[in-house]
Amino acid sequence: MYFISTRGGEKVTGAQAIVQGLAKNGGLYVPESFPAISRTEMDEMAQMSYPERAAFVLGKYLADDLGADYLKEICEKAYSTFDGHGKDPAPLVKIDKNMFVLELFHGPTCAFKDMALTVLPYLLKKSCEVTGIDDEILILAATSGDTGKAALEGFRDVPGTKVAVFYPDEGVAKMQRLQMCIQDGNNVFVAAVKGNFDDCQRAVKRLFASEEFNAKLAEKKVRLSSANSINFGRLAPQIAYYFSAYLDLYTSGQIEMGDKIDFVVPTGNFGDILAGWYAKQMGLPVRRLVCASNRNKVLADFFEKGVYDVKRNFFRTMSPSMDILVSSNLERLLFEISGRNAELTAERMQSLAEKKEYSITAKEKAILDEEFFGGFASEDDMIEAMYETFDEFGYAMDTHTGVALAVCAQYRETLEKEDDEIIDNTPVVVLSTANPYKFPQDVLYALSGNDVKDSFKGIKRLNLLTAMKPPKSLLDLRYRPLRFKTVVENDLNKMATEILKFADGQIVPVPDGGKK
Ligand SMILES: *Cc1c(COP(=O)(O)O)cnc(C)c1O
Repeated sequence: MYFISTRGGEKVTGAQAIVQGLAKNGGLYVPESFPAISRTEMDEMAQMSYPERAAFVLGKYLADDLGADYLKEICEKAYSTFDGHGKDPAPLVKIDKNMFVLELFHGPTCAFKDMALTVLPYLLKKSCEVTGIDDEILILAATSGDTGKAALEGFRDVPGTKVAVFYPDEGVAKMQRLQMCIQDGNNVFVAAVKGNFDDCQRAVKRLFASEEFNAKLAEKKVRLSSANSINFGRLAPQIAYYFSAYLDLYTSGQIEMGDKIDFVVPTGNFGDILAGWYAKQMGLPVRRLVCASNRNKVLADFFEKGVYDVKRNFFRTMSPSMDILVSSNLERLLFEISGRNAELTAERMQSLAEKKEYSITAKEKAILDEEFFGGFASEDDMIEAMYETFDEFGYAMDTHTGVALAVCAQYRETLEKEDDEIIDNTPVVVLSTANPYKFPQDVLYALSGNDVKDSFKGIKRLNLLTAMKPPKSLLDLRYRPLRFKTVVENDLNKMATEILKFADGQIVPVPDGGKK
């Protein structure tokens, strides 16, 4: 299978798309066509374990480049790092009639990014082999909190790779920051940027596109790649859990094969939900994808009005991994709804860069109306949804999932009713993207109204309230010295300098022994 750029002019293999991350013209790689998964194949997949299902989906895109057996082997390895040794890395929990939560946070860093970032290093290694690249690969990632840690952990001490992560100084939760700044490994670098996630992402994308910067790295025999969801290798493993959730509903007798279901996805960079849309293009019976935003509701407005407008205030919320105004992966969806018009997609992206907005046609808007529902939750809406779900069903969730639950309720209100009762029987699967213990103070506040000053006290109280077991990796953060305290200005050259120093092998030790 070949991959093409959303902005035209390039055609590469899957392995090349994974090594490069971003197309040379700034576009994103998309599959030349969507491979189908037939009903017969779905029946076969129903009998498979999660790693086998994931390898099967990945194989549709990458088997001719990387080999089906290799994919199976790496999915087994990647998911064996999850709770319960990967027997069920993405469990589906029923919380009410027709309401399910797909828990994607059972990986080593407690967020859904692990679903893909435990697999990506293996995909990249083989992709380098088959493309004959023996340069060192430097993974450059911008993070709103969770990608950074998952990339650091996924690539830690992987031979032939280095990882540099930039996170917004004031824009991540305490546990997320600690998780990144204590990171072990001899090939890792972490720095805060004085700005928000959009600043980090923009800078990283510009560094990818900079010939000068890439030439400097090339002199050191280093080449950039991406662990953000702009890399198709990040997206592909995420398609698998949509299939797996559907198959779990089928094998547990909740649906008949072919019945349509809805998915609700807490959304930031539009990678997770786009993977769901890709699953649908491959034949998964999905009725609607519900796109849930927090107060940074650019996407909700886009789905309502057909105008993407980033001229607005940026808010810091209790769901920091969704505090994003420029959602990169929307470009892939725009490309598709425009009838794969690369010229038009490039024009829109230029308009976004220059005028901070673009709009779509009525015909394109009609496609979105059919397939998506966009909504947003205020902080109060989120808290209410978390509290009610805990109160009524005893189910505790993180703040990002809380946003999804709140928007799910808004969506359900639009469905067909009789005597005020919703009569629609379509099952809804809400994607849960983080372990509640990653945001202990906010979750505790939402569930009980209690405000504690300290995250670790938050964990203890939350444990008493919910009886859920806190992950050891989060408890241990308390006793670990910091390894990284670098803060850089929101300035491309300064960030480039840090990366070049790191590429040269300089990791400056923290002067004060890592005191917090
Ligand atoms: C990254 C993240 C999201 C948003 O996912 P996108 O793919 O960026 O839309 C939501 N919740 C959590 C906890 C995340 O880490």
